[in-house]
Amino acid sequence: MPMRHTIAREVAAEGITLHSGTQVRMMLAPANPGAGIVFRRTDLDSAEVPARYDTVSQTNLGTMIAAGRADVGVVEHLMAAVAGAQIDDLLVILDGPEPPILDGDALCYLELIDKAGVRKQAAPRRAIKLLKRVEVAHKDASAALAPAGAPAFDFEIAFPSAAIGRQSFSFPFTPEAFRREIAPARTFGFLHELDRLKTLDRGHGASLENTLAIDGDKIVNASLMRFADEFVRHKILDAIGDMALAGAPLIARFEGVRSGHALNNALLRALFADPANYRLIFLS
Ligand SMILES: [Zn+2]
Repeated sequence: MPMRHTIAREVAAEGITLHSGTQVRMMLAPANPGAGIVFRRTDLDSAEVPARYDTVSQTNLGTMIAAGRADVGVVEHLMAAVAGAQIDDLLVILDGPEPPILDGDALCYLELIDKAGVRKQAAPRRAIKLLKRVEVAHKDASAALAPAGAPAFDFEIAFPSAAIGRQSFSFPFTPEAFRREIAPARTFGFLHELDRLKTLDRGHGASLENTLAIDGDKIVNASLMRFADEFVRHKILDAIGDMALAGAPLIARFEGVRSGHALNNALLRALFADPANYRLIFLS
């Protein structure tokens, strides 16, 4: 029977955060079986925030979780890496408001987890098996979870910019395929939105080293690209991170059409609103 996993030892990384643009230190530490993924803010009296769909407090410009007066922003890339490495229990210790953005992908966090090593826990791994299709939509965007024999992610995007255009990607999830096909896909943003972001006091840490920058129909730092369809792959990375907030692996097919963090969270809330939608199972 597959068992729960944590990491074998503490590892640390430092870097700038995407939105506040401040330097932070992040430490990943092993956690007890059943603890789940928990963030701790050492700069806020060590307040803890469980990484779960029902602690999501904001979804514009990244997924933010909050508990009491503590919040943690832009958790989705780290959560994607945690899901990709099949880590169930982990303590993420931060001295600032977000994990460091590092390379703007999930590979940087996977490599950190590799450095720590993975440890089997003395408790079996549980998963959430979809029994009924659940779908949420807003305008021309939608997100759905459908019953399936194994986890999979399908995504379609369409942007007016010719730099992106229409892209679709179908991804049967395995840890190996995640590392190769999805984890290296970097975050992206439009230069014309950067000024607006900065007036909102966000995006201070975005740079041409961690974000694919689009100016009209051109990619400013195209030399950074790792895939021709990197944008839709990054949307799958975000969806994997957002779905990891379910608290256990989802045995389901995720279908996203222009979906973002808000719809992804609404989808999990819709899933858990009706116990007839799913069943908790032990993996065999
Ligand atoms: Zn992202």
